[in-house]
Amino acid sequence: MYLYNSLTHKKELFVPRDEKLVRMYTCGPTVYHYAHIGNLRTYIMEDVLEKSLRYLGYPVKRVMNITDVGHLSSDADTGEDKMLKGARREHKTVMEIAKYYTDAFFSDCDKLNIKRPDVVEPATNCIDEYIHMVSTLLEKGNAYIAGGNVYFDTATLPQYYVFNDHDEEDLAVGVREGVEEDTNKRNKNDFVLWFTKSKFEDQALKWDSPWGVGYPGWHIECSCISMKHLGEYLDIHAGGIDNAFPHHTNEIAQSESYLGHKWCNYWFHVHHLNTDSGKMSKSKGEFLTVSLLEEKGFDPMAYRYFCLQSHYRRNLVFSWENLQNAAAGYDKLIARIAALGKDGEVDEAAFAEQKKRFENALNGDLNTSVAVTSLYDVLKAKCNDATKRALLADFDRVLSLNLMEAADKLAAKQAQEAAQSADPEIDALVAQRTAAKKAKNFAEADRIRDELKARGIEIIDTPQGSKWKRI
Ligand code: AMP
Ligand code: ZN
Repeated sequence: MYLYNSLTHKKELFVPRDEKLVRMYTCGPTVYHYAHIGNLRTYIMEDVLEKSLRYLGYPVKRVMNITDVGHLSSDADTGEDKMLKGARREHKTVMEIAKYYTDAFFSDCDKLNIKRPDVVEPATNCIDEYIHMVSTLLEKGNAYIAGGNVYFDTATLPQYYVFNDHDEEDLAVGVREGVEEDTNKRNKNDFVLWFTKSKFEDQALKWDSPWGVGYPGWHIECSCISMKHLGEYLDIHAGGIDNAFPHHTNEIAQSESYLGHKWCNYWFHVHHLNTDSGKMSKSKGEFLTVSLLEEKGFDPMAYRYFCLQSHYRRNLVFSWENLQNAAAGYDKLIARIAALGKDGEVDEAAFAEQKKRFENALNGDLNTSVAVTSLYDVLKAKCNDATKRALLADFDRVLSLNLMEAADKLAAKQAQEAAQSADPEIDALVAQRTAAKKAKNFAEADRIRDELKARGIEIIDTPQGSKWKRI
């Protein structure tokens, strides 16, 4: 598999350190609010990456954190803890907020067929690990104490900016909101490993540490949680592009200083979902959620299909019109699958040929739009329907678009409708009942209803007229 590696700025053949296990880490959500559909784009593409690796024969162990402490409103260590902000907004405790939005996140993931990572670890679970790493960094001379906080000293690194081919706009995102200069820092890029001095006295979660009562910085959690479950070497680290700087840059700085060797070989960054008016952000107040899509009548699968149609390394523009087009495309696809027959034997040669094309799409830096096109190639192929169904079910192990379930449901619905319209005698009785009702002959209308009921037919009165179904 070829993947674009943000560290080397090119597509590279993916070679895990250990063939028997790909070690993959993904930055999880900050659970102070619902995930917006931009966040979920990143999780969908990471899900496709994990499933592609498994499909291509690599066993994977994937770990994700839940940020429930330490992420300040500016990624540059200033502002208020986002969790505290959420708690204040909703008059709840920080732990209540964390539980509520963690559950909401996984419920959104379920709706979008995003598999739960093998390990999910809340940041507040690993305080001992942070204290150990920070102590080691202090001993090694990579960290210093100033004004009560512990800082990482970026001057001790041979190279700090490792992802420097990102555009300025993305690099600036993390440090834009309300930046205030911290005079304790020796170098402008130094970052907090452990806070004891916060401007906010009411910081809800605090722990004892060798440097006083305080709480961890945001970046340290990902390094420690990754090492706790995946060891000293990581194959793939994934996240949204805004996390490349400062978050991932700082993760590399502290991890490699702590370990004394290279930590992670491949960095996978998903580009942003934007709206016409720019970047999507939770802090802007109103934002787009999966529930909102559902309220507007969209199947979450239509959003997953929309995301898969574009490459993860391109910005994607969301509009209701674009989503509507994707939903129409998805519905047509399901209708075509529903029309396939089920009889026959799978043609193994045809199966292998089509599968190869699908694998090539995944192998070429996760080209999901080509992978989606290969669904249509299968539908057009010269093989029999049984082979087509087998192929589509197989590809859906990666794409997770509910293809077969949705198509079978549609086919059953269509069959039921067809069965209904195929009974002229029942139709005639329903019409007689309608006429009786119109003539205010309710006794006759009820008699017909009872007669139909005795024959296992239920009448449903709708504004468009009376329909019936078998019970
Ligand atoms: P957060 O909950 O803010 O920590 O972000 C969760 C994930 O969503 C991170 O991997 C971010 O990089 C990613 N992310 C944030 N905004 C967007 C966006 N507009 N489009 C795609 N991914 C995003
Ligand atoms: Zn992270």
